[in-house]
Amino acid sequence: MNDLGISKETINLVEECEEELEELFKVHEDIAQYNQHKVLQAFRNNEVALRHFSASSGYGYEDESKLKLDSVYASAFGCEDAIVRPQIVSGTHCLSICLFGLLRPGDTMLCATGTPYDTIQKTIGIKEAKGSLKEWGIGYSQVDLIDNEEIDIRKITSMLANDTDIRLVYFQRSRGYANRKTIDIDTMARAFKEIKKINEDVIILVDNCYGEFVEKKEPTDVGADIIAGSLIKNPGGGIAPTGGYIAGRKKCIDLIADRFSAPGLGKETCSYNAVYTNFFQGFFLAPHIVLQSIKGAILMAKAYEKAGYKARPRATASRSDLIQSIEFNTEEELIEFCKGIQKAAPVDSFVIPEPWDMPGYSDKIIMASGSFIQGSSIEFSADAPIKKPYIAFAQGGLTYEHIKLGIMYSLDEMSKFKNA
Ligand SMILES: *Cc1c(COP(=O)(O)O)cnc(C)c1O
Repeated sequence: MNDLGISKETINLVEECEEELEELFKVHEDIAQYNQHKVLQAFRNNEVALRHFSASSGYGYEDESKLKLDSVYASAFGCEDAIVRPQIVSGTHCLSICLFGLLRPGDTMLCATGTPYDTIQKTIGIKEAKGSLKEWGIGYSQVDLIDNEEIDIRKITSMLANDTDIRLVYFQRSRGYANRKTIDIDTMARAFKEIKKINEDVIILVDNCYGEFVEKKEPTDVGADIIAGSLIKNPGGGIAPTGGYIAGRKKCIDLIADRFSAPGLGKETCSYNAVYTNFFQGFFLAPHIVLQSIKGAILMAKAYEKAGYKARPRATASRSDLIQSIEFNTEEELIEFCKGIQKAAPVDSFVIPEPWDMPGYSDKIIMASGSFIQGSSIEFSADAPIKKPYIAFAQGGLTYEHIKLGIMYSLDEMSKFKNA
């Protein structure tokens, strides 16, 4: 043990990993450099000034700040327009507004990437919920990924050709907490092209959660009509306190804005009686913060592979989201991993995470998180359902150094199993 309380063995293992990862880290540093420039250009081209950070009240008609924030997002993501609001409560709310804004009774949405993220299932009506799209007479169909890996483009295009009710095709970029492949930008680009060949007017909506700034391009750069995501993930840069964004084609944003506020009110009505500084500054920091998370995820994969565990994605795989999963041999190992991550949290480090029956989930869930912003998952966190195979999902981290400490704490916890 050294004076940090981390075993020499663990420190050696992690330092060895870092040396081997130097080249790969450079690849991601290059992406971050590119994205930082993209975001800087968006600030410059929109002439962001201090007055754009001020608060507003009431209807918010005099609120120049919110519209400036919209423009900065739109520019950075290569879009005509955007709606970025602290009043959007979460990523799920974002996606729900998009779907209700864009779809009408009789329409069908087609999900091209298998079963969507848990919380969206109630919006759609896959899981029973009051006020779901299903209740409003909006149909749903889904095409599963082939072997949890590939988009089944032939099936998607044949469904599009045969069903004229399909108004919207939905993609989920990140794997979320599913054991499937993340859909990268090149793959999306190919799929979008095939889809638009069949029906130019069909709307392509991408759940971009966890994906922003991981690659040089966003889905909107390669043909998506609309993207949406949470501000307590990547684009908030760890300091946006809440909110969501939606960006894309103006005619889609107009429909969505009328759903966000009320028909006819659009984007103009909406005030925020606190300053917007954190939303602008967070977006400016986002490419760098995402780089921290990505480097941390790669280090975690590498260190755990070296320690004999299975990482997904593998340390050296290309990436399009923040999620890193590690497969453990037993429930005990899984729990100890989460304890190690919790121990390294700046907030609530003294708390010991335990599996619990979370409402809406069929298995017990264990969560390790000690974030400055409640539930923020651009901050370092891990969670796992207690079921076979024992897979923990980790994501985020505001500094690489912090993630590295979490990895070392958790590896130390793990060492007790080696000699058992
Ligand atoms: C986080 C996330 C969402 C939305 O989740 P919220 O907790 O409502 O912000 C949707 N899809 C994916 C893939 C996500 O990772």
